[in-house]
Amino acid sequence: MRTTVLGAGTMGHGIAQVTAMAGNEVTIRDINEEVLADGVESIETNLQGGVDRGKTTEDEMAATLDRIATTTDLEAAVADADLVVEAVPEDVDLKQSVFEDIAAAAPADAIIATNTSSLSVTEIISVLDDPGRALGLHFFNPVHIMELVEVIDAEQTDEATLDRVTDFVESLDKSPISIRDSAGFASSRLGVALGAEAIRMLETGVAGPRDIDDAMELGYNHPMGPIELTDVVGLDVRLDVLEYLHEELGERFRPPQALRQKVRAGKLGKKTGEGFYIWEDDEIVGVSGDGEIDDV
Ligand code: NAD
Repeated sequence: MRTTVLGAGTMGHGIAQVTAMAGNEVTIRDINEEVLADGVESIETNLQGGVDRGKTTEDEMAATLDRIATTTDLEAAVADADLVVEAVPEDVDLKQSVFEDIAAAAPADAIIATNTSSLSVTEIISVLDDPGRALGLHFFNPVHIMELVEVIDAEQTDEATLDRVTDFVESLDKSPISIRDSAGFASSRLGVALGAEAIRMLETGVAGPRDIDDAMELGYNHPMGPIELTDVVGLDVRLDVLEYLHEELGERFRPPQALRQKVRAGKLGKKTGEGFYIWEDDEIVGVSGDGEIDDV
């Protein structure tokens, strides 16, 4: 499928990479040349990592890069596309205006997908005259590593669109799951539910963060416990998602007070050096608030 990816950021360059690796011609569009160059550089770094680990060859790397073009011109980017995947920042007004621009310039039968992680796909695609050809396509970060893709069936999406995109995702060697458009889809909804309950357990003194994380890591084989994952994702990001799910789905998603307080204090997790844990050089070195270092 000739594919256009809008946005060369964290997700956009990853989606472009895996799509080109699967043999598709890809055009990436962003708002300036510098961001596009950074995106392509990230793809080169990822591919080189694959070559170094023996997962891909130099020839495959070169062929993948050959299949990727970049432009800042939206009309040229989408003019021949079979599939357009939007990966611009998470803002409903921006995404709707990008969808309008795509519809004005892309072929009438091109499929249009949004990579939103939390917004209503039904609302984003409502600006189209023919929203049956649009849907959500939720990749995970880092795209070249993560196997899951949520295929989001919005209120207006046609069956044929879902079928074509599900086949496309399988052709990328990823595992699609079918999800009805609803707040938090499947992944974020379950992920933040576990994280919020873990924080409530901290608040009520059920256990410390390391023991709660071990419960899931050692008892349920999760690769990372819910408190550590909250620190890694960012407490502010988790709070935003919870606030949205609380509004959409009700009381059980009310953000824990301890999470709000941490965010107010600027303790946002790994990226600021402290969340529920204390971090140094991307490693946990202590538990926030207990003054103990090297005890985890
Ligand atoms: P990002 O900020 O890294 O990249 C967004 C890019 O879009 C930037 O390069 C920006 O210059 C560009 N952009 C802005 N307006 C544009 C326009 N009109 N046309 C083309 N490009 C434009 O953001 P990201 O993390 O890649 O997130 C993109 C989308 O993917 C968001 O909806 C986000 O919620 C979703 N998402 C993110 C993650 C994640 O872990 N980062 C995971 C899944 C889904």
